[in-house]
Amino acid sequence: MNLAVIGTGYVGLVSGTCFAETGNQVICVDNNATKVARLQNGEMPIYEPGLEVIFNRNTKQGRLTFTTDLESAVKSAEVIFLALPTPPGEDGSADLSYVLGVAEQLGKIIDSYKVIVDKSTVPVGTAEKVHAAIAKNAKVEFDVVSNPEFLREGVAVEDFLKPDRVVIGTSSDRAREVMQRLYEPFVRQGNPIIFMDERSAEMTKYAANSYLAMRISFMNEVANLCEKVGANVDHVRRGIGSDKRIGNRFLFPGVGYGGSCFPKDVQALHKTAKEYNYDFRIIDSVMKVNHDQRFILSKKIKEYFNNNLKDKKIAIWGLAFKPNTDDIREAPALYIIEELVAAGATVTAFDPEAMDNVRQVMGDKVALTFGHYDALHGADALAIITEWSLFRTPDFNKMAQLMKSKVIFDGRNLYGVETLAEAGWYYNSIGRPIVM
Ligand code: NAD
Repeated sequence: MNLAVIGTGYVGLVSGTCFAETGNQVICVDNNATKVARLQNGEMPIYEPGLEVIFNRNTKQGRLTFTTDLESAVKSAEVIFLALPTPPGEDGSADLSYVLGVAEQLGKIIDSYKVIVDKSTVPVGTAEKVHAAIAKNAKVEFDVVSNPEFLREGVAVEDFLKPDRVVIGTSSDRAREVMQRLYEPFVRQGNPIIFMDERSAEMTKYAANSYLAMRISFMNEVANLCEKVGANVDHVRRGIGSDKRIGNRFLFPGVGYGGSCFPKDVQALHKTAKEYNYDFRIIDSVMKVNHDQRFILSKKIKEYFNNNLKDKKIAIWGLAFKPNTDDIREAPALYIIEELVAAGATVTAFDPEAMDNVRQVMGDKVALTFGHYDALHGADALAIITEWSLFRTPDFNKMAQLMKSKVIFDGRNLYGVETLAEAGWYYNSIGRPIVM
């Protein structure tokens, strides 16, 4: 099939590349000319494991191309994917201006039947709005489908090629048949393509992300209480996760969820509930808990140093909002660094992939280092914020030699409490006993 993907970010680039991998002819459109030029040059604008290999294969074989020209891309496509940003507006609701702006343009361009697929995360009722925006100018038939995307950054290619499920919201048999054909190669192991109406599909995405965010906030609260009552959240997590009704994934406490999806999607669902006069109390709590959890590590650090961080050097390992990505949108590290710097600390930091992005938003507020050990020179404490594999088995003797004091604040519970106690470290993690 001939496909056009509009918006070539994390979702658009991964979807476009994976659709090309299954033999489709894909043209990706973006209005960022620099990004398109880089992609045409064979350069990856984002870090996503496994993407480069299939990107190279499909661009070389001419199945995957890039352009800034919306009109030419759309004219030759049977299916048009919208993978455009839906950032939070000032009131917390999803900003639909990108999606509806492009929809209006599409109405003027399309000259034969098209299936227009909304892959962006959008509030209930958006498919109808997209339909109306296109219909304003369109002279031909078209269908609008809601097809929310569930890929996770860091494992996006794997998620896209082997999704747990595909959700398709459409009331058109014609569009349903096209979508079925397109996704069949990805669900050969029997995972379902779940068809439903557009509104339910839109709601499914928000319900999924909000549920996951709730699980994280719940475990963060359990961890905070563990610290107070003298329990160890590691044991509690295993104890509850082995119950099949609960399951063992997404039960790790930490420094709060971040990224470009959970914070904005939880907020948008909250806004939708308000619009419909529904008091979604759990969602309110999820947001409040997450807000406070972001400051838990900086709070622990400040308390340890008696609220005086002047002349203190804090080293940070991990800046991306999670491992295996360079994405720092709403990353807890940014909030923690701001807090530490505001309290007078000097901050050095290392991240395997996210440092270019951090440099752009933080400038010289933080000194970025070549390797993770380089960040430790003369540090009064190390704070671990992202659980990159690289940080899991460090050389503690080398660390002790480099640092001024053997002090670790671990926002991801990477090390055994007993191990660090035996090696004589002060070790303060999340929901576990402090050792010194
Ligand atoms: P992104 O910011 O990485 O990419 C969006 C792209 O759209 C950018 O390259 C931008 O230049 C381009 N763009 C903006 N306006 C345009 C226009 N008028 N014409 C052409 N291109 C335009 O965003 P993303 O992370 O890929 O997210 C896209 C959507 O998918 C959002 O709604 C998001 O919530 C949703 N989503 C994201 C993820 C994720 O993990 N990132 C997962 C599932 C769903």
